[in-house]
Amino acid sequence: MVRPGLRSGKRKIVKSPKKRYRVVSLRKKPNRAVCARCGAVLHGTARGTPVEIRRLTHSERRPSRPYAGVLCNRCLTRMIIENTRSA
Ligand SMILES: [Zn+2]
Repeated sequence: MVRPGLRSGKRKIVKSPKKRYRVVSLRKKPNRAVCARCGAVLHGTARGTPVEIRRLTHSERRPSRPYAGVLCNRCLTRMIIENTRSA
């Protein structure tokens, strides 16, 4: 583990139960979710550490449609059209 003074990212001062102040380094947010096909930033997807995402409701995490959080709406529409035409 990296020495506390050398940790990068944001820090926060937290009061302990013993009324002592401690500097806590916060975890960095992961990058935004992108489309697996074209690389566009996906809308409606939550961004945060796994703990922050777990605290959200199911509908706040990603849209409720097939391939949500994987493909953007344009790529999904294209894929459905391509698959129906080839079938
Ligand atoms: Zn796309």
